[in-house]
Amino acid sequence: CWDVVVMPILEGPRVVGLVASSRDITEQAMLEQQEREQAEAQKRFVSDAAHELRTPLAAIQGNLDVIFRYPHIEESEKKEILQDVQNSAARLSRLVHDMLQLARGRTGVKSDEEVLLHEVALSAWRDAQRISGSKHHFELGLLEPIELYGDTDRLKQLTLILLENAVKYTPKGGTIRLQLEEQGGTAQLRVQDSGIGIAPENQHHIFERFFRVDRTRVDSRDPGGSGLGLPIAKWIVEAHHGTLEVESALGQGSTFVVRLPLQECSVDP
Ligand code: ADP
Repeated sequence: CWDVVVMPILEGPRVVGLVASSRDITEQAMLEQQEREQAEAQKRFVSDAAHELRTPLAAIQGNLDVIFRYPHIEESEKKEILQDVQNSAARLSRLVHDMLQLARGRTGVKSDEEVLLHEVALSAWRDAQRISGSKHHFELGLLEPIELYGDTDRLKQLTLILLENAVKYTPKGGTIRLQLEEQGGTAQLRVQDSGIGIAPENQHHIFERFFRVDRTRVDSRDPGGSGLGLPIAKWIVEAHHGTLEVESALGQGSTFVVRLPLQECSVDP
C-alpha cells in the first residue's frame, strides 16, 4: 500500500517537470494497528486486574467490619475471621507480585547465562516435593544433561510453576513425573501429572491472564492461584524462543511440554 506525492518543478511560472515521492504506508498502518492492540490489551489487563484485586479486598473489609461491629464474639470465631483476613492479604500480595512481573515484560530477562537445565529442573523438582509434603508420588524420568544460554532464575521459575500446578491439581496419592531430554536440537521438558485434567474447550484458555477453570477454588479459606502462573510460564518460554503446549484428558491428568531451541536460545532484547 503506497502513499504517492507528486510535486511540480517550476521555472518561473512554467512547469518544467514533476517529482514524485512515494512511501509504503502498509508498515505504518501495521504499526498503528499494533499500537491500538497494545493499548486495548493494556486496558483489558488493568480492568481484569482491578476485578481480581477487588475480591480479596472485599473479603478483608467484610471480615474486619464483623470484628469491629461485634467485639464480643467468641475468641475461636475471631481467630477464624482473622485467619481469613490473613489468607486474603496473602492472596492480594501474590496477585500484585505476579501482576508486576507480567507488566515488566521481558526487561530484565538475562540472555547470556550458561544454564545447566538439568540442575535447574532438579532443584525445582526438590522444591515441588517439599510443597507437596509427601502427598504425591514423584517420578523422575530421563534427565539428560543439557546446557543452554538463557536466564537460570526464570527457567527455574518456569519449571516450578508447572510442577506446582501439577501438585495443586492432582489429588492426594497421584503421580507427578518430570522428564528432560534433547530431541533434534531442542531441549524438551515434560511435566506430567495424573490429576484432574483440563477439558478440551479450556485447554487454550489456560494460558490467558486470570483464567482459572474452577474459580470457586478461590475463596478466603483457599487462596488458590492467581491465574497468572501459566501466562508467566508462557512469556518465560517465549523469551527463550521456545514453545509451551499442553496435552490433557479430563479426569486422567495433564502433560505440559516445554521446548527450547538449543542453538539460538538467547533471550529477546
Ligand atoms: P493458577 O494460579 O490458577 O494455578 P495458572 O495460570 O497457573 O493459574 O493456571 C490456570 C488454570 O489452568 C488453573 O486455574 C487450572 O484451572 C488450570 N491448570 C493449570 N495447570 C493444571 C494442571 N496441571 N492440571 C489441571 N489444571 C491445570
